[in-house]
Amino acid sequence: MPEGDTIFRTARALGRALIGKQITKFRSTYPLLTRFDDDVPLAGQTVEQVESRGKWLLIHFSGGATLATHMLMSGSWHIYKPGERWQQPRINMRIVIENGDYVAVGFRVPVAKMLKPQELARAAKIPPQAIDVLNENFNAGEVLRRMSTCADEEVADVLLHQEVLAGVGNVFKSEVCFVTGVNPFSRVVSLEHEKLTALIAAARRLVAANVLEDSGETIVTYGGRKRRTTHEADPGASLWVYGRAGEPCRRCGEGIRRRIQGPDARVTFWCARCQPMADGTDVDG
Ligand SMILES: [Zn+2]
Repeated sequence: MPEGDTIFRTARALGRALIGKQITKFRSTYPLLTRFDDDVPLAGQTVEQVESRGKWLLIHFSGGATLATHMLMSGSWHIYKPGERWQQPRINMRIVIENGDYVAVGFRVPVAKMLKPQELARAAKIPPQAIDVLNENFNAGEVLRRMSTCADEEVADVLLHQEVLAGVGNVFKSEVCFVTGVNPFSRVVSLEHEKLTALIAAARRLVAANVLEDSGETIVTYGGRKRRTTHEADPGASLWVYGRAGEPCRRCGEGIRRRIQGPDARVTFWCARCQPMADGTDVDG
């Protein structure tokens, strides 16, 4: 599952290739999309905006419709020059949007729907801008309100709820808890308002730092602005705790712990000394 920063970078790249340009051709293997295109042709329209909302990628057309795609595990968007050889076989093609300069190809995109404005507003699964950590209209108060509806759940699980806070994946979840000194197994209700506010701010800061223009594909939370563009053999080399079970905490030297957490059985990493439970209890790693 790609993290929010990956989808954001895809949206930024697609935006550069598509925004403001007239579409010359639209194709898809999805009957619902081609039927929409038959009724309201996309050729001749322009792309007005491309944005990410958590793990969704939205392409807004001048005719008012929005193409919403969700990548799940398999999907990807590529941008080619006209006539350039595709890096995936044609059989994986699901959606093609062409203009005079570029060909944008959605490969193995598992979820794709064309939505009218009122349908987009009602689409419960697509997070609103207010709760997307990378959106300029982000509203921490709205996220706090939504977190309060999960008061009895463990905070690291709540950070993954895309309907509470969109764009934080499993790597950032552990990192955000570490940098704010919050034990990932704390229940939301046990955390002070200031801690919750700090968690939300850290989520925005860490994810945003990974979508800077010079960011590589590797997630970096440890090491300040030093970016790694080479492939690291150790996935935890640029991180505070994720992937570092048994290794010494970068702050206190205690062994980093690892544990499966939550109904979806996602792996969580933390330092028991830097991230104590608010009530003083311990959690086994
Ligand atoms: Zn520590």
